Amino acid sequence: MRIVLLGCPGAGKGSLASLILEKHHIPYLSTGAYFRKEVADNTDLGKEIKHYMESGLLVPDSVTMRVASKMLEAPENENYLLDGFPRTVNQAMMLDELTTKLGRPLQVILNLYVKDDEVVYRRLTGRQICSKCGAIYHTRNHPSKVEGVCDVCGANLVIRKDDQLESVKIRLNEYYRLTEPMVDYYKMKGNLIELDAELDSEVLLEEVNSLLEKYK
Ligand SMILES: [Zn+2]
Repeated sequence: MRIVLLGCPGAGKGSLASLILEKHHIPYLSTGAYFRKEVADNTDLGKEIKHYMESGLLVPDSVTMRVASKMLEAPENENYLLDGFPRTVNQAMMLDELTTKLGRPLQVILNLYVKDDEVVYRRLTGRQICSKCGAIYHTRNHPSKVEGVCDVCGANLVIRKDDQLESVKIRLNEYYRLTEPMVDYYKMKGNLIELDAELDSEVLLEEVNSLLEKYK
């Protein structure tokens, strides 16, 4: 099955994705992870991406499509859960074109939606990341045992720069501006499924599993 997972920053896509993958064993394609790898490797593409991320802006389509084509053309990625892409109507249309050309059209679009922006602010502004191993903590929901120190490797925790409140607001506004029309696009095509992001993740998983039964 080929699934796209949509959701604003802080909707909890990461947790839902892990639960889906645990159950369905398909490749997880995250443009975000690929972007971060490019940044870490300090490639030309990575430097471009870094500039946009640090400004709290979305990476432009031309760059994102380069990443997406690479991932989706790989023979081992016939089935997948796609996360972090597409983000605009334009990208969605390019993705449809690409997947049709590959003979692997998209089957299900899951949209994890948040009714109230405050939920996102609460969830994201407390997030900390280990400067060494990348483990993720949250000052309220999932604090480290010793404040500011990673439980796993003992290195310092830092607040992710793009998680600070102003930056979160920019990302959220960008998301709504660009993504809402895309959600309508998929609604029109008839393969969109809406999921309430404030539901417990196990409840969400059950809902998703019963939906995916018919694509097995
Ligand atoms: Zn660590």
